[in-house]
Amino acid sequence: MSTNFRLPILAVLVTFFSIISGFSQRKAKAKDDSALKGNPKLVVGIIVDQMRYDYLTRFYDQYDDEGGFKRMMENGFNCKNNHYNYAPTSTGPGHASVYTGTTPATHGIIGNNWYDKENDVEVYCASDDSYASVGTTSDAGKMSPHRMQVTTITDQLRLHTQMQGKTIGIALKDRGAILPAGHAANAAYWFHGADEGKWISSSYYMDKLPQWVIDFNASGVAGSYKKAWTTLKDISSYTESGSDNNVFEGLFEGETSPTFPHNPQELLNKNKDYDIIKSTPFGNSLTADFAIEALKQEELGKDDITDFLAVSFSSTDYVGHKFGVNSKEIEDTYVRLDKDLARLFEALDKNVGEGEYTVFLTADHAAVNVPAYLKSIKIPAGYVDNDSTKEKFANFLKYKYGTEDIVKNFSNYQIFLDHKIINNLDLEVREVQEDIAKEFLSYDYVDRVYTGYQMWQNNYTSGIPYILQNGYNQKRSGDVLLVLKPGTITYSKTGSTHGSPQIYDTHTPLLFYGKGIKKGSTVERTEIPDIAPTISSLLGIAFPNGTTGEPIVEVLEQ
Ligand code: ZN
Ligand code: ZN
Ligand code: ZN
Repeated sequence: MSTNFRLPILAVLVTFFSIISGFSQRKAKAKDDSALKGNPKLVVGIIVDQMRYDYLTRFYDQYDDEGGFKRMMENGFNCKNNHYNYAPTSTGPGHASVYTGTTPATHGIIGNNWYDKENDVEVYCASDDSYASVGTTSDAGKMSPHRMQVTTITDQLRLHTQMQGKTIGIALKDRGAILPAGHAANAAYWFHGADEGKWISSSYYMDKLPQWVIDFNASGVAGSYKKAWTTLKDISSYTESGSDNNVFEGLFEGETSPTFPHNPQELLNKNKDYDIIKSTPFGNSLTADFAIEALKQEELGKDDITDFLAVSFSSTDYVGHKFGVNSKEIEDTYVRLDKDLARLFEALDKNVGEGEYTVFLTADHAAVNVPAYLKSIKIPAGYVDNDSTKEKFANFLKYKYGTEDIVKNFSNYQIFLDHKIINNLDLEVREVQEDIAKEFLSYDYVDRVYTGYQMWQNNYTSGIPYILQNGYNQKRSGDVLLVLKPGTITYSKTGSTHGSPQIYDTHTPLLFYGKGIKKGSTVERTEIPDIAPTISSLLGIAFPNGTTGEPIVEVLEQ
């Protein structure tokens, strides 16, 4: 919980109790030790890529009573007003923030990709050329978490257990596996589609894949998911979404209408192209299969030293990007994910034991309803016209400064300026930031503008500027920050996206379930960086070293 008034009260209470309880410390110590023995044998962190909070409520009646979501909602703790407290709301920053308990301002993962000012190159959040691929002939394994500047909850568990607690990250997307697993992980595995269809890793973790991963890859499980996508239940029962055929949905290559059954022969017949699995709910099933295999083969949660399995379900994001928040495809994807989660929980019951493990579930960001759909029902929304923006902005730069070179890069809604050229022109960086900000404010799709200088000088505590500042890293972020009008995106006219500081991108589910977790719910605001310190408190281990969140006390049995 990050409400500001809580802190002093908490500090006073802590001091008060430590004074009055001083005399009984020895007794309390014995109790603590037995509490430590009561730690969960395994923590499972689940991130559902692009999951909005309202997918829990909108599809509630579709979820099985014995399924995954209801098991957590009915028997665990539901934080209903949980938000990302920074922008850009994208996958790399999202995964890093959940596991580090802080924001890009501190952990440094400011986007999936960003412009590296120091070295004048574009970088990817998880790429690392100093390591080699493991399990693939491609470069898809040359990865590590080295750009993440602080520890994760998984790192702290490794430190606390003298490296005995196992930590493993699994996701179709490399960044969804690597950032949660942390720096000191035993392993991270991600899926390389293309012509291989294999779970792979990096020499950062290991020299070769364990035999069980080699066996899984050889089993043909991935290939079995290259199949037509029909709805799991009768499509007429999916009353919580729009019509199957509409202009707000994208198409698979070779399809002529965005309707079930999705049977894009052009893609399915390409024998070697396994990437189509990612864009269907079968990618999540494959992830659950592999996570369950890891659980068994790595003997996670078998002894009293807590292990950590970090699993991200990435297909929800691919489906959302293609078909949008309101599509039948999204509804079916969540109905199916509910079953995959149930399967994972059953495997946990069997292999670790019911009541012996703790699970949390959240998302790495949410998503906007397709703006073209919103517009069609008269809700303000729209798209950025990239071509006219480019032309207008180039003309402004030429007229004002005599050169376009003053702008180095535009990414993640930030403009990076060339400070050397500004100095050579005898201009002040601060003034150029302000002039460019003002220019953008005159573009009709822009809602607000801020400068890097403002981010340095102020301490924002609420609203959009607070969110921008939490995402602003002094060493890595840009010179001018743009916020588009609500419902406005830079994207195709079909499908949903995310990345903004607006509430539809920040509002994500947060469920806790299992050992040490109370039953209940709250509508008080919680923020993503609160998750890691909550789990740290549950385990009695140190917080990740950049933590800015606070433990959510209501969640924990104590
Ligand atoms: Zn994502
Ligand atoms: Zn459709
Ligand atoms: Zn996405």
